[in-house]
Amino acid sequence: MGFLSSDEAKKPHAVCVPYPAQGHVNPMLKLAKLLHSHGGFHITFVHTDYNHARLLRSRGPRALDGLPSFKFVSIPDGLPVDTDGADVTQDIPALCASVDRHCLAPLTELLRKLNKAAEDGGAPRVTCIVADGAMPFTLKAAEELGIKHATLWTASACGFLGYDQYHRLVQEGYTPFKDASYLTNGYLDTPIDWVPAMKGLRLKDVPNFIRTTDPNDIMLNYLQHMLKSSRKSSAIIFNTFDALEKEVLEALTPDFPPLYTVGPLHMLVDRLVNDKETKPIGSNLWKEDERCIEWLDLREPNSVVYVNFGSITVMSNHHLVEFAFGLANSGKYFLWIIRPDLVTGESAVLPPEFVEEIKGRGLLAEWCEQERVLSHPAVGGFLTHSGWNSNIESVCGGIPMISWPFFAEQQTNCWYSCNVWGIGMEIDEDVKRDAVEKQVRELMDGEQGKKMKRRSMEWKSLAEATVSKHKEQSLLNLDNLITQILLSP
Ligand code: UDP
Repeated sequence: MGFLSSDEAKKPHAVCVPYPAQGHVNPMLKLAKLLHSHGGFHITFVHTDYNHARLLRSRGPRALDGLPSFKFVSIPDGLPVDTDGADVTQDIPALCASVDRHCLAPLTELLRKLNKAAEDGGAPRVTCIVADGAMPFTLKAAEELGIKHATLWTASACGFLGYDQYHRLVQEGYTPFKDASYLTNGYLDTPIDWVPAMKGLRLKDVPNFIRTTDPNDIMLNYLQHMLKSSRKSSAIIFNTFDALEKEVLEALTPDFPPLYTVGPLHMLVDRLVNDKETKPIGSNLWKEDERCIEWLDLREPNSVVYVNFGSITVMSNHHLVEFAFGLANSGKYFLWIIRPDLVTGESAVLPPEFVEEIKGRGLLAEWCEQERVLSHPAVGGFLTHSGWNSNIESVCGGIPMISWPFFAEQQTNCWYSCNVWGIGMEIDEDVKRDAVEKQVRELMDGEQGKKMKRRSMEWKSLAEATVSKHKEQSLLNLDNLITQILLSP
């Protein structure tokens, strides 16, 4: 490591450790850019080997060159290198088990090396670790080396509150289920009535890792481990804003370290990160198809249904075909992102008559720049899996949603979208083409759709206000996070 200028050497140094999945790397990179540009931090951004290699493939060999003050490094994650094209980071229980088992020692070693390099003039001394809540082992490294630790929770606060119920749900015998019949016998409609901020929520709306019959289920235990670490961290940072999740945040406040809502992160980045060097650093693990924006540019305002199920959701080819005909029969324009690995165990096969039917009306692509798509005036509705990043990006675009939640806290996000924020409608798990057609028409033209659109526009204004230049809440919280936690002795 070369010698740094004296100014660089004096900077605070944040080591950012995302969980190695798209929906986690994106918000962590945004927070890192904010700390770098707005907070004046030197950044070490820690990928794990598997995604480091993928990013080099999807974004080119220079993608992770970084800058003298914003460096990318990578630590082993125990994941197989040669996976024959399969994305092993989509097996979330296996991924959690692997990072938990393999990453602590290399991270501790990295932190030691960075501090040794500081003594030799190669980097500023590490001031703090900003780690993903899904990387709970990072707390051990921080404790061992006496470094401050803050947690970035990349999903919703309502999802966090949902996970926070796990301990009680296990203790009181709600989960693990006695047998698989509990998935279908109406048990999932049991109300969860002890949290006022979740009034009306049912067992089926709690993050879905509770749906297990195995007391040793990896996720059931991992999530409780995550919660424990978060409690010991110096702060929890959320990619949300106060107006959106007020009651939930109030419910969490007494039980956790200080909470900092600094979202919507991408809006804050747009406002505060102006330097030409960090702004273009991207984190997409797939290559974006540039045709999407060009195609949207040709469409009328609010005329297109955007369909995307994120980076992890998979479905059967049967469900894919039901979505396809539902979209085709709705008569609407649509942009549908079909990841190469969206269909379980096979390639997506769409019937030729569907392809013929949608000519000129539907664009299919493998990946897009979603933030740009969701802020494009042509997009009028979003058929989504309700991943939190997608959800908050949709809120910022003022776009109402049809939700087909897949896993994790997506069920909870969906429930809040439909029942609290008034911007969503849910579609049945066993999706049928007629329901897709009906709900898409309702979303785009119906009375309920219009009502949802009005609510979405109200949330959009509130999101804009929270990052406005008059030091509104999220901007203020970012400054407070930096001064009260990250830079405090
Ligand atoms: N994303 C994107 N292009 C796509 C699909 C997704 O840029 O075609 C981004 C999206 O903007 C979001 C992230 O990938 O930031 C997906 O995160 P989310 O929490 O919505 O879902 P997950 O992939 O974790 O299920």
